[in-house]
Amino acid sequence: MRYEAPQTLNQAVNVFSEFNGLKRILAGGTDILVQLRTDVIQPELLMNIKDIEELGKIELFDNFWKIGAGVSAANITRNKEFSKEWPGITEGVGLIGSTQIQNRATLVGNLSNASPAADGVPALVAANAMVEIVGRNGNRKLEILSLISGPGKLNMKSDEFISHILIPRQNKNSSDCYIRFIPRTEMDIAVVGCGVNLSVENNNISAVKVVLGAVGPKVIFSEEASNSLLGASLNADSLSKLQEICERDAKPIDDKRGTIDFRRKVAGVLAKRAVEKAYKRIMEDS
Ligand SMILES: Cc1cc2nc3c(=O)[nH]c(=O)nc-3n(C[C@H](O)[C@H](O)[C@H](O)COP(=O)(O)OP(=O)(O)OC[C@H]3O[C@@H](n4cnc5c(N)ncnc54)[C@H](O)[C@@H]3O)c2cc1C
Repeated sequence: MRYEAPQTLNQAVNVFSEFNGLKRILAGGTDILVQLRTDVIQPELLMNIKDIEELGKIELFDNFWKIGAGVSAANITRNKEFSKEWPGITEGVGLIGSTQIQNRATLVGNLSNASPAADGVPALVAANAMVEIVGRNGNRKLEILSLISGPGKLNMKSDEFISHILIPRQNKNSSDCYIRFIPRTEMDIAVVGCGVNLSVENNNISAVKVVLGAVGPKVIFSEEASNSLLGASLNADSLSKLQEICERDAKPIDDKRGTIDFRRKVAGVLAKRAVEKAYKRIMEDS
């Protein structure tokens, strides 16, 4: 196996796009090193991107945050300005593994591994985040839902990789939340996860996105659940309608960590709790 550790993004694009065999990016390595050890994948080129300075930054622009593909989960959760604006995305990132794992793992790696249970992904989708993809023909941007095509699968050409995540600035009177269910307190994979992004105007919900994780081959944006809350005030009726739609929209599998029925029920409960928590955050800030 060839190993490369380019120092600049330009070098990385050249190395990656010119190599024709099976290739993979190495970011934190917390997924891919396990996959190498267990022979799940045997790439002929492994390209480490952690030495590339321009991919190691969290930058704030007028309209968006730009998080480099080499930024560790720990550096995201430590960023006070970001976590104040996006507490839900931060919650998802802060649930990845343990302190040790978070010092290595990246949010882009969490996304690119394309596990339906990835904790970092639902809140990113709820926030309308995008990825910036680099390759032989320059840069392009893609919505996260369009990036993930199924478990372990991304819609990217073989010469491409992700350079950044782009997250819009949070709106006024808005907040987000991510909650997951696991059978123990930490170091487990989500049985169900839910990310929500909410805006409130005159006590009514003016914008909302509800996204379910671990209950389908990829994250599910529940458009019906989101629409059911639009224009409504938060009360027992609107919450129970939301819960019911999320139970229906969840398309989980049966496995040793949860039955289909159980996961559907949990999806509804988590959606309700995540909406309530995001709403509470908005009220506390206003
Ligand atoms: C003990 C342990 C506990 C864990 N707990 C959790 C958990 O609770 N929740 C959770 O969601 N995950 C968990 N994980 C999984 C893992 O830590 C995360 O998915 C992590 O965010 C992966 O990031 P990474 O930088 O280590 O990715 P890597 O392992 O470096 O890469 C992962 C995959 O993404 C690809 N990739 C990486 N960067 C790019 C890029 N820029 N462009 C294109 N492809 C890229 C790689 O080629 C590889 O296929 C756990 C892992 C371990 C070992």
